[in-house]
Order: sequence, then structure tokens, then C-alpha cells
Amino acid sequence: MRLIFFGPPGVGKGTQARILSEEFGIPHISTGDMLRSAVTRGTELGRKAKTIMESGGLVPDDVMIGIVREELSSPEARKGFILDGFPRTLPQAEALTRLLQEMGFGGYTVVNFDVDDEEIVRRLGSRLVCEKEGSILNTEDGVVAGDPCPRCGGRLIQRDDDKEETIRKRLGVYHSTTKPLIDYYRKGAAIVDLDGMGSVDIVRREIKLLLGK
Ligand code: AMP
Repeated sequence: MRLIFFGPPGVGKGTQARILSEEFGIPHISTGDMLRSAVTRGTELGRKAKTIMESGGLVPDDVMIGIVREELSSPEARKGFILDGFPRTLPQAEALTRLLQEMGFGGYTVVNFDVDDEEIVRRLGSRLVCEKEGSILNTEDGVVAGDPCPRCGGRLIQRDDDKEETIRKRLGVYHSTTKPLIDYYRKGAAIVDLDGMGSVDIVRREIKLLLGK
């Protein structure tokens, strides 16, 4: 199963990708998680990406394409994968099409998540992330920043880019640069459109239904 989770930041792609990658036994390739890990480890990539991410901008295409090429070359990706947060620009989408062809992968499905912007601002503003495992929680679950993660004990933090001003910038970048890619995919790929407004469980079941799983 090869899936591309597509949609604005905060739409629930990461949460669903984490759950379904476990359920289907395929890797979850999140470019955002990889960049955050590079920032935490203080690698050269992390140092370059940090300010861009904090401002809500996009890391250059050649860097991102190189990262994804490496991930797709892993033996685990032969079983299938869920791409989350990539592609975000037309050059990334075109490079991905070429990569998948070169690597002899067959078809894939784009899952197009939709949630309105004000709901996204609300969700991201109350989102907390586990520093250790990346699990996603919400202050509405009764936890606050600094609490231990109920799953692994790691510390829950608010991402720097989940501040309202940066959220609005990220949404702007999504609408101007990433959203138009859906036309690229509508021309030749299998796409399923998903209403992401429901609870985590409802959305999970809806995705499985749409994928016939
Ligand atoms: P995410 O966790 O997917 O919302 O990604 C967090 C941030 O990482 C984004 O706001 C971008 O700054 C950067 N990033 C993640 N994926 C990409 C990508 N495919 N292209 C460019 N920048 C990216």
C-alpha cells in the first residue's frame, strides 16, 4: 500500500499516518518529523532547517527530495509507505513521480484531507507533541505543556511553529503553494477526498473504508 497523505498542516495527517502505519505494518515517512529530529540532534540539516521551520516557510526542494529519495530506497518501503508532509511544491511532486517510476513502484493513492482553516488554527493552537516519540495530544485531553506523555513518559511540548502567527503563515503557504498540487494529482493519480472534521477514530475508519481495507 502506497499512500500520500495530502492536506493543510494540522488536518490530522500525522495522527492518522502514525496509527495506520502501525496497523498496516508500513513505514510512516514524515518529512516534518525528520526535520525536527535533525534540529534536535543539531545536524547540519537541522541548523539550516530550524529558522525556516520556525518562520513557517518551506525547506528547499533539493534538500527535501534528497531526504525522501533516501527513505524510499529503504527495504521497508518496498512493503508500502505513508508519505506525510511531502510533496509540498510542484517540483517535489514531479520529482516524486520520477522517483517512484525509477524505483519500479506501481500506483499509489493520494488521500486528500480537508478541514477549514479556523478549525485548524484552533486545533494547532491546542496541540501538544511528545518530545520523545512524537505522539500528538491536545490540551483538550486535559494535559498541559510540560506534562509527561501518557504513552511513553516523554515530555509534552508545544511546537514552536504552532503559535497562532506561524500557523497562519503555514496555512498561507499551504494555500498558495501546496494546495494547487491537487490539480497535478487529479490529472493522473488515484485520489480519495476525505472530510477530516470528525474525531480521530471516525476519520481513521473513513480512510480505511475509502481504501477498501
Ligand atoms: P509538518 O510537520 O509536516 O507540518 O512540517 C513542519 C515544517 O517542516 C514545515 O512547516 C516546513 O517548514 C518543513 N517541511 C516539512 N516537510 C516539508 C517539505 N516537503 N518541503 C518543505 N518544507 C517542509
